[in-house]
Amino acid sequence: MTTILSGKQLAADIRAETSDSAARLAALGTPPRLAVVVATSDESSAWYVRSIAKAAEKCGIICSVVDCGADASAERIASALRELNEDYTVHGVILQTPLPTGADFDDLASSIDFRKDVDGANPLSHGRLVTNRTAFSPATAEAVLALLDHYEVPLAGRRAVVVGRSNVVGKPVAQLLLQRDATITVCHRHTKELAEHTRQADVLVAAVGRAGLVTAEHVAPDTIVIDVGTNPSEQDGLVGDVDAASIHDRAAGVTPVPGGVGPVTTALLLRHTVRSAADTADTADTADTADTADTADTA
Ligand code: NAD
Repeated sequence: MTTILSGKQLAADIRAETSDSAARLAALGTPPRLAVVVATSDESSAWYVRSIAKAAEKCGIICSVVDCGADASAERIASALRELNEDYTVHGVILQTPLPTGADFDDLASSIDFRKDVDGANPLSHGRLVTNRTAFSPATAEAVLALLDHYEVPLAGRRAVVVGRSNVVGKPVAQLLLQRDATITVCHRHTKELAEHTRQADVLVAAVGRAGLVTAEHVAPDTIVIDVGTNPSEQDGLVGDVDAASIHDRAAGVTPVPGGVGPVTTALLLRHTVRSAADTADTADTADTADTADTADTA
């Protein structure tokens, strides 16, 4: 029997803890604020932004959408990001995709101050993650690890196979699993005999964007499968990369789509924003203390 590894309870727990922290920070004069920079008229992107804004509001986080327009130049978007870096009332910045033609995501994400880079989009955040320095991980990648921890899946010394090698999901997931002492294989569109790799996995992460890519032939009886994929489906609305019916009764566990990685990702974005706000408040405290010390010295 395959266990369904829902992300709903974990997401609710993270949101509850985040709400408490947001309320404490607001009471201290630092209400956490997230800014989402948008330069598209894409409807699914607009839906995603609305869902983040709603979730933020419920947790007591102010969410501002900065709409640069679907025909914005790269310079216009970079300038919006730089303004948000300078705005001390903003603690988290997300750059929403898709972007207009001619605007490169990695180039633009480099403009986000890494201390406000709550979705780990800046290549600097990625480099810091790889070298074990403090940085926000991409929320989706962290959600994969959070789910594995929530369900107490051991990682040290286990074999993890990640299918997909994008900068936003596949590579950071592999990096986070490596930090936890798993042995990693990363598969991608040029991988031959995919099933031969994935069948070796204790933990299999599918992050491709192809409905039904992972079937019974890709899993072993003990495999825990984390399905990151989100693919629109006329029949079911949204489906993952895993053919859930096919692996049912074959894998040990699988995350559902929707209701698996997605809600945890959103909750972690909010947690990161509150952490960034808390860091700002701590810095302000230290500055206040330093000011007092300076005054005392002068006196
Ligand atoms: P991407 O298109 O940037 O990368 C896809 C990766 O899959 C590439 O590395 C490619 O080499 C690999 N790939 C393509 N075809 C393959 C095949 N046949 N076999 C093996 N590998 C193959 O996509 P992405 O941004 O990494 O997103 C992946 C999926 O995750 C998408 O469905 C996306 O919607 C979803 N996603 C979900 C969340 C969430 O919160 N749940 C967040 C981000 C992305």
